[in-house]
Amino acid sequence: MKPSRRVVCATLWLLSLFCSTLAQSQTSLVLGFTPDHSAHEIALETKFKSIPSADEERRQHRIFTSEPHVAGSKRNNELADYIAEEWRKQGLEDIVIHRYDVYGTNPKSASLEMIAPVHYQAVLRESPLDADSDTKNPAISGAWLGMSISGEVTAPVVYAHSGNPEDYDLLRKNGISVTGKIVLVRYSNPYSYRGFKALTAQREGAAAILIYSDPAEDGYKKGKVDPDGPWGPEYHIQRGAITYDFMVPGDPLTPGWASVPGAKRIPIEQATSAPKIMALPLSWHDAKPLLENMDGPLAPADWQGGLPIQYHLGGKHVKVHLKIEMDNATQPYYVVEGRIRGAELPDEWIVLGNHRDAWVFGGVDPSSGTASMMEMTRAFGNLAKDGMRPRRTIIVCSWDGEEVGLTGSTEWGEQFANELRAKAVAYINVDEATSGPNFHGQAVASLAPMLVETSRSLQDPSGKTLYEAWKAAAAREKQEAKQPAEITDANLADTRIGSGSDHTVFLNFVGMPVIGLGFEGDYGVYHSAYDDFYWMNHFGDPGYRYHTLMSQLWGVTALRLANADLLPFDFASYANNVRQFVNELASKNKPVILSGVAGSRSEAVTESKDLVLNLTPVLSAIDAFEAAGKRLSESLSRKLASGPIDPKLALTLNHGMMQVERNWLNPDGIPGRPWFKHILYGARFTYAHLELPGLTEAVEKQDWPTAKQQAEILQRALANNTRLVNELNNSLKEPASVSK
Ligand SMILES: [Zn+2]
Repeated sequence: MKPSRRVVCATLWLLSLFCSTLAQSQTSLVLGFTPDHSAHEIALETKFKSIPSADEERRQHRIFTSEPHVAGSKRNNELADYIAEEWRKQGLEDIVIHRYDVYGTNPKSASLEMIAPVHYQAVLRESPLDADSDTKNPAISGAWLGMSISGEVTAPVVYAHSGNPEDYDLLRKNGISVTGKIVLVRYSNPYSYRGFKALTAQREGAAAILIYSDPAEDGYKKGKVDPDGPWGPEYHIQRGAITYDFMVPGDPLTPGWASVPGAKRIPIEQATSAPKIMALPLSWHDAKPLLENMDGPLAPADWQGGLPIQYHLGGKHVKVHLKIEMDNATQPYYVVEGRIRGAELPDEWIVLGNHRDAWVFGGVDPSSGTASMMEMTRAFGNLAKDGMRPRRTIIVCSWDGEEVGLTGSTEWGEQFANELRAKAVAYINVDEATSGPNFHGQAVASLAPMLVETSRSLQDPSGKTLYEAWKAAAAREKQEAKQPAEITDANLADTRIGSGSDHTVFLNFVGMPVIGLGFEGDYGVYHSAYDDFYWMNHFGDPGYRYHTLMSQLWGVTALRLANADLLPFDFASYANNVRQFVNELASKNKPVILSGVAGSRSEAVTESKDLVLNLTPVLSAIDAFEAAGKRLSESLSRKLASGPIDPKLALTLNHGMMQVERNWLNPDGIPGRPWFKHILYGARFTYAHLELPGLTEAVEKQDWPTAKQQAEILQRALANNTRLVNELNNSLKEPASVSK
């Protein structure tokens, strides 16, 4: 956006229009604001940023991390009341606690005993640390995985590495079947959602799955362990749910509609997201006796882990008795909603959210985000009390049951889907606000430029701007991943958005643009009892400076969207990203798929004899959308530079721009997963990002009729949005501004 703005200024200079004032204010122009409103916005943001304090962040963080507060627990419900009460005091309005009666999950008991070749009784608990009195809290749960089924089995154990489908292929090659057996797998790096491991084991016919934390992934092989360092100690247990929410998130009994009183519910047997396998997590302390007694072939080199033993595939000698009793039943979850009503456009909404429920104390996940949210809302409330209300309405939500199946946000999003599709500008999610100093910013491609611009106006604790710190962190990350990519403004924000947090319903079901914010660092205690206040104060963010920065960043990003004259969407950036998605799909799926990669389009078409899928029309549609987006950005910049904008015109433009994201929805959803309606963004079963999900999955399956259909759907959506953006552009063509 910056270059086009400079061009505009030059043009205006030649026309001798407003240019001296513009030149003066140009450095402080904010994307989407007129010069006057830019200056006003910067002043407002300065005031906003001065409010959050590290002491308050720490105080709030202590409140949320003082007791375990898993979804559905008394403590988590008390915290819902606490948030509602605080928001009232802070000056938020229309505070509602929504109740959803959802299929919940709670542990009753679990035991694991090795009965051969030697006896071993698994501890299934985390040992307290002297340095950290919270770890002595008797309310800390033992080992359990949400949505495991109850059962009892005695069977041999097989080591199945990460528990991905290819791991079972290797076992088969070694003559090892897992049918009726118990598979022992590890949490993997890169992250693969444990629910996918459970589904894979279920499909393979295993009787149960044990998932353990290997020290190679998050323990002593990485560095010092808690209480001396950030990595996971011997007894840490990664809890979590195994819900198949990659099929459909939210309450498994109400797929696609809200679990409000009286809602229709399907029987649990018909719920596609409800697992049908027993599952238990283990610390490496409990996994080691099993692993060191395994027989069978030596596991391959990349299956060896961090323990000082040789890992074998097993399958015979090691036999265990596993018993799990769960209390899975319908129970209430609570979503707290509050808002700052917009002064001018109350029916245009910016939605912000963080989940409240934690596996134990939730030091990082999610209470760092919750503390940042509370300081952000205090700052919003302060401004509103001083008469500085946003133009649009800001809605803030504290979700429940995110950890179980993205449940609270999904139910809320399903309940208000129609209203959100009419009113919502964007959703900004903060889950884990802070586990270290490295900023990671995610945004749908149309909002990536505004997020990058916003980061320039914030101060990182390192002394750099957040923008500079972000660039440095991104460069380090690329280097570590051995990807020699240059970091530019165009690729700084992560525009590949998978699932695994509360943005999912808004992006994939409602069709809202989403942003996700987080600071990351070395973090080996995820979902364990050691993820707590002590950990945060010693390793994650001892000075609560990143918590404070998160409150500022989250709030300023929201304020820019809430106050913009013309919403800061960049559709040329969107088109450019979609082109990258298509080109990647083509290059990863050679030779069966024909790519019309820019520059060699016609060549490729004529050369190919066995054309399976021709994406050239899609690429042409992307070009047209990009051209329309570019023209619109230029016209919007010109319009903004010329001063106050007619409210009627602004309404037309803004509502039109809001519609673009909705137009990426296919009401039928992606093949096999009708709940997921976005055709550009989706997630794999591992939660990993999956661009062009319907098309990509069809291509990967070599299902060419479906791939062709999906390509046509994409092409139509691109054409629709091109038409829409062109219409908006036409509405900007006033006679007076036509220059010859
Ligand atoms: Zn979380």
